Amino acid sequence: ALALTACGNNSANSGAGTQPSGGATSGGTGAKVGVILPDTKSSARWESFDRPLLDKALKAAGVEPIIQNAEGDTSKFSTIADSMISQGVKVLMITNLSDEGGAAIERKAKTAGIPVIDYDRLSLGGSADYYVSFNNTKVGQLQGQGLVDCLKGKANPQIIQINGGPEDNNATLFKNGALSVLKPKYDSGEFKLAGDQAIAKWDNQLGNTTFEQLLTANGGKVDGVLAANDGLAGAVITALKKAGLAGQVPVTGQDATEDGLAAILRGDQCMTVLKPIDQEANAAAQLAIALAKGDKAGADKLATATERDPKGNRDVKSILLTPELITKDNVKKATDSGFVKVADVCKGD
Ligand code: BGC
Repeated sequence: ALALTACGNNSANSGAGTQPSGGATSGGTGAKVGVILPDTKSSARWESFDRPLLDKALKAAGVEPIIQNAEGDTSKFSTIADSMISQGVKVLMITNLSDEGGAAIERKAKTAGIPVIDYDRLSLGGSADYYVSFNNTKVGQLQGQGLVDCLKGKANPQIIQINGGPEDNNATLFKNGALSVLKPKYDSGEFKLAGDQAIAKWDNQLGNTTFEQLLTANGGKVDGVLAANDGLAGAVITALKKAGLAGQVPVTGQDATEDGLAAILRGDQCMTVLKPIDQEANAAAQLAIALAKGDKAGADKLATATERDPKGNRDVKSILLTPELITKDNVKKATDSGFVKVADVCKGD
């Protein structure tokens, strides 16, 4: 088969993406499972990948999914949660907008006897029964090492870091993972940290203006950008284009979104991290169905890992999946994973 290394000539692969179907398989409990996704602007993943994959996986497991998006609004998030609790969901799955917000909902669910799964983001100081995510420190390591590799030995590169939202525990894990690779280089003077900013709520627009300010403050000089996800990478690339630097300055990313993969094929973005969201959605759905059946022992058997919650001073039963590095050489691995479609990656072509 043809390797997908550019758009415009991939007819051999155009069928690689499988469209999630909404078909329900019965045999399950018919119980309602509530899912609250965080927003529509921090990453394309939530609506493009997570929603259809969770819907499909939950329906296939014979439960009735109720999936809503809080649109980045913490009060909307808690209103949705209240309504799901009063509708009698058997399980609540949430991707929080903040630790405090997640923890508050988890306290209410506990009072109502409803088990909670923290989906992708751990609510620090919360009381979720389970956590399903990726090894997020490893995601950051892949970004840090990816940036080093993309710089191809360039001497004394100046790096700007555009980090994820400080209210998201994952952003801390990503940054710590990246710094495990980059900090020794900053400390030794091999690399120079020329700007470093966390972007509230992962807001792409704010990422764009913040990057422009940091670039200007550094006299227009930058050799590499650590951008925490594909959305922020896109914001950085827009600014680099304006400065006439796009394609010359490696930019990292995460999520293997259609736009991120297209930017990699164009040469504007250097890498992304593929987190097989089908695996994440399926794992969370399996946990939810066990819990909806009241099979706590079955759920415990699925949660083979633990994640430390330093704020709550507890270990949370977890399912932690493995992220993978994607560069121009293996974009096809992302489209082969089934949930990113070649046709969408190449739509602008
Ligand atoms: C997720 C990333 C996503 C980011 C912004 C993080 O918690 O792990 O996949 O890009 O939030 O939505």
